[in-house]
Amino acid sequence: MPTTRRTLTAVPATADVDRDQEQEQPGTYEHGTAPAHLMTRRQLRDAGLRPGGHDPVATLRCRRCGYHPTRACTRPAFLFDSRLALPRRVPTLRQEEALDRAMAARQTCITCRVRQAYCLPVADRRCVGCATSSGLAAAA
Ligand SMILES: [Zn+2]
Ligand SMILES: [Zn+2]
Repeated sequence: MPTTRRTLTAVPATADVDRDQEQEQPGTYEHGTAPAHLMTRRQLRDAGLRPGGHDPVATLRCRRCGYHPTRACTRPAFLFDSRLALPRRVPTLRQEEALDRAMAARQTCITCRVRQAYCLPVADRRCVGCATSSGLAAAA
């Protein structure tokens, strides 16, 4: 009986199998060495993409581990194949309307009812002008 159970010749030597195995091999890349089509979740998002349900195809060692090639990276980033990624969902009109209503509530002064270009303090909900004038009045 052979003592070694794994043999290299067990893999069928067809071209298809070889190519599939190359693609599926979960790679680990040093920071900055990953192929261009492999992106972190953040890079996908910046490119207007999302993983779309597929699992990470490789891991990327963090920048610091580039100086310690033998160290196991404790903060690896997952890499997704951008060719399997899907476009990010764009918000629907209803979602945008809801968002706008929420923003309007946060930006409209409760005293003068003027909508400002910035979000008002949660505790106060008054614009700078109203807050200042009432503050002055209270101080006087
Ligand atoms: Zn690391
Ligand atoms: Zn106001």
